[in-house]
Amino acid sequence: MSKYWSSLVGELKPYVPGEQPKMANLVKLNTNENPFGPSPKVIEAIQNELDDSLRLYPDPECQALKDAIAGHYGVNSKQVFVGNGSDEVLAHIFQGLLKHDKPVLFPDITYSFYPVYCGLYQVESKVIPLTESFEINPEDYKQPNGGIIFPNPNAPTGRYLGLEHVEAIIEANPDSVVVVDEAYVDFGGETAIQLVDRYPNLLVCQTLSKARSLAGLRVGFAVGNEELIEALNRVKDSFNSYPLDRLAIAGAVAAFEDREWFEHCCNGVIRERERLTEKLEAKGFEVLPSRANFVFARHRQKPGADIAAMLRDKGIIVRHFNKPRISDFLRITIGTPGQNNALLKAIGDVFFR
Ligand SMILES: *Cc1c(COP(=O)(O)O)cnc(C)c1O
Repeated sequence: MSKYWSSLVGELKPYVPGEQPKMANLVKLNTNENPFGPSPKVIEAIQNELDDSLRLYPDPECQALKDAIAGHYGVNSKQVFVGNGSDEVLAHIFQGLLKHDKPVLFPDITYSFYPVYCGLYQVESKVIPLTESFEINPEDYKQPNGGIIFPNPNAPTGRYLGLEHVEAIIEANPDSVVVVDEAYVDFGGETAIQLVDRYPNLLVCQTLSKARSLAGLRVGFAVGNEELIEALNRVKDSFNSYPLDRLAIAGAVAAFEDREWFEHCCNGVIRERERLTEKLEAKGFEVLPSRANFVFARHRQKPGADIAAMLRDKGIIVRHFNKPRISDFLRITIGTPGQNNALLKAIGDVFFR
């Protein structure tokens, strides 16, 4: 703690991102990046943007991107907010819509950035344990609160909550904002965006980092009632009026225009997820049912930390969380068929040498 720090900075417990090691030939299955690259049309759009116009500020409203997102989901562009990665969108949501007199509710096992934002913005929170089988029970969210947030599918479990149950949570909480973080919804879930016209308290957050293979471009968005979006615009314009640069706007628009590439990549991930699940189960793993681009699995005999360390020695990195309830699990991002085969071979070597 330095005397130059504010007292708040001294108390922060920052998020620790999955590592990005600079090793050659690494099989990197630890941060849920998409193994299939971005659409070639995205690369082309970004290249076309590389000219003298870079001296000019980008459109502060990112209208072209809002129009592309609104068109994709059949909503009005005034119902769309965009930000520098969905992490930034989430930050504005915590500050602008989840900070109230009562605590915000989220699961005990969930995206670990939520408690970090609570610390940064001094938002009171209450964690709601997932069931024994690591599911969200909508009944648990029928209690006084200042807002609700959960990922669907949840991270790092991969478990999906059916839309009718999501709707039950929204319906039971008309006085608070319910945020559904759909970072992984395109890998087999159904989006709650179709419900935003019926529920003024629903906000759906998504990212281009996972299903659209653009983690490096940093683009996320939220869709909801215009009043909720206006709150986010007010926070954004009190923080950074230009969250997306010209290249990010051009690339993100192109990503939404290339629906074919998007579907091809999502289907490829889903196919590999089902194959990997089956093979891991055959090797003695319990694998939670996943609708995401990762699986969450534990071995019936060996501790997760040991397996992660042994895989690492073989140049394969997966994510291990040293946290209550899940310390035996590994979160394994779905890779290309070749990467998944390398993982399976390494696991075979670990157990059967
Ligand atoms: C990856 C992820 C995000 C963050 O996405 P970015 O757009 O890359 O910031 C948000 N929520 C969940 C649950 C995620 O897994």
